[in-house]
Parts: sequence; structure tokens; C-alpha cells
Amino acid sequence: MRTIDVRGGRILVGGETRHDARLTISDGRLRAIEPAAVGSDAAGDYVAIDLAGGWLLPGFIDTQVNGGGGVLFNNALGIEGLARIAAAHARFGTTALLPTLITDTAEAIEAALDAVDVAIAAGVPGIVGVHIEGPFINGTRKGIHDPALIRTLDRSIIDILCRPRRGVVMMTLAPEVVAVEDIAQLAAAGVILSAGHTDATYDEALAGFAAGITGVTHVFNAMSPLLHRAPGMVGAALSEAAIWCGIIADGVHVAPAALDIAFRSKGADRLMLVTDAMPSVGSDDDFFLLNGRRMTVEGGVCMGEDGTLAGAHLDMAQAVRTMCAATGADLPTVSRMASASPAAFLGMAQDRGTLSVGLRADFVVLDAALEPVQTWIGGIKVAG
Ligand SMILES: [Zn+2]
Repeated sequence: MRTIDVRGGRILVGGETRHDARLTISDGRLRAIEPAAVGSDAAGDYVAIDLAGGWLLPGFIDTQVNGGGGVLFNNALGIEGLARIAAAHARFGTTALLPTLITDTAEAIEAALDAVDVAIAAGVPGIVGVHIEGPFINGTRKGIHDPALIRTLDRSIIDILCRPRRGVVMMTLAPEVVAVEDIAQLAAAGVILSAGHTDATYDEALAGFAAGITGVTHVFNAMSPLLHRAPGMVGAALSEAAIWCGIIADGVHVAPAALDIAFRSKGADRLMLVTDAMPSVGSDDDFFLLNGRRMTVEGGVCMGEDGTLAGAHLDMAQAVRTMCAATGADLPTVSRMASASPAAFLGMAQDRGTLSVGLRADFVVLDAALEPVQTWIGGIKVAG
């Protein structure tokens, strides 16, 4: 049993903001949330946190993390690489993430699924599943994905994706290049499907949603745009109320005005901040290799040799700050886009995404400037 008294700032508990709290934690979960006591009357393991004018928020949940700490998941399909990626993002407040495999071979996809299984079994903090982004995407919207590896869906991959796993399995695909029966089969097997790298028409997008796609990957980027007579994937993503949209809030991938438009269209409960992070997050590296091709990191932007954006040099705390500035929304609202909304999308709202009794004790302490100070996963301090 651990008792943490939190004072000196604001604490987001459930949907409300408190000025102090006593958190009682056992087995990684919050057992009680009460007003902080005056002085330490708690027996056993006692911790006091002074927020110094800052905030304590639910830990961030990131559904799209290609790398961090100098490691690219595609290049390090094992537990050590996953631990380094998770630790790099924990420093910025992320307490749950999906390592994300950019379009790669069938062997790499299977190895990625297996590696995440091993990491979850071993209890690597912060790894909760895997995101397979491609290869069943539209080459005309490939972004940085290697066109030589983009292909049509085959039976053997469906079987690999549908095997039972310890964590969630999310897949980004283009609905116009995958048969609706295959989309339905993947969804029925529990694979969380997201439309991305897609040139779908509005109608093709709706058909994909009807077949079982529940999300849209980095909305606006690498997809058919919203034209007034051809609303495309962006139009479908913004207008379909049930669909969750990931969005890269770095101010580079999506202009601040478009971040605001997405927020006004979707609301905080269907928009999810993602980093699409590359190995440079939490590292000083200024280049990395993707499928053997050299990517550079310059001025906070990752790109290929032709200038194509190659994921983002972005952490979740920065995404939260950017979204606050772009939308004018208050921090409790933006926090939902970083925690509760992705938890709901992943089917994990009973475990994480808010600070509530019975849920996991995953939280981040931010200072008054919203810079991360401490991160706790399962009631254990992992950064700060
Ligand atoms: Zn992408």
C-alpha cells in the first residue's frame, strides 16, 4: 500500500479539478482518492508531491510511437528496444503506448507482434499493445512508407494479425485497397482498425467504417483531403461522430487552425493526440535509418531525402501544449484528448485514461508551464 499526498497545484480526478488529493495505491491501482491529510498520518509507504503551481494529470496514452530514445521500432523488434522507447516517452508523461511498425515485410510484422507480447509478459512499463501501420495502404498517399513494401492484403497476414495477443493490436489500412469482408474479419477478431495512408472517397470511407474501422490515423496527413464536392477521408473523419481521429499536434504536420477545426468537429472525446514519434524523441540523434533509407532530423522536423515528412520529433507533453495554444481549450479538456479518448478507442477505459478509484495509478506531474516533471506508472515513479 502506498499513500501519496498531492498539494500545491491542481489535480484532475475523474472529470473534476481538485486542489489537493490523497491517493491510496495498491497493486498498481488507485484504491482511494480523498482530500490530502494535514501532515503525514499515513502508515507505511508515504510520498508527498508538491505541484508548485503545476498539474497532476492522468498519464498520456499514445497510439502511434515509431520510436524514441534513439531506437526505431522497425529496426529493433525486441524487448530491449521496446523498453528504451517506452522509457524515452515516459520522460514526457506517456504511461501507455503502442509501438508502431511502419510498413515492413510479413516477417517484420510477425516479429513486431511477438516482441510486444514478450515485452508485455515481462512487464515492460508503458507497453500495452502494438500498432501495425501498413503495408495495406494506398501508394498514392504513402508519405514516408517504402513503396516497394506496400502490397495487397493476403491470408497469411490476416492469420498472423488475428492470433490472440496479450495487448491490443491496432492496424492502419486504406479501406479502398482492402475488401470489406477482410476488414470485417479483422475487426471481428478484435483488431482495432484505423484508416490511414488512404485516398478513399467519402463513400469508400463510410463503407470502411461500416465494416469495422473505428479510427482514422493522423487525420489530415496522407489522406484524401476535404474538397467541397468531394469530402474525402478528411470529410468522413470529421463528420462521422463515432469515429476517433488521431492527430499530430506539432504545429508542423497540421496547421494550428486545422488543429482547431478538428477539435471543433470531433470534440475532446473523439480526437486523440498522437506523437508519430521517431527515434530522435528523447535522444540527440540527428538522423536514423528507415527500411535502409536515411532520414534526417533538423529544426524539430524529421524528413526523408526528398523532404517528405518522416514521422515527428514530438512528445506528448509538447502535443498537449500545442493543442492548448491552437484551440484555446483548457487543460482538463485537452488532457482528455491525451488520455481518456485514446483509452476509450483502445477499449481500455476500465483500466486507464482517467484518475478514478479502481483504475491504474498512471499519472504525470506537469509544472506551471506544462513541462513534464514526474511520471508514475502503476503507482511507481518511472521518470523525474
Ligand atoms: Zn503514417
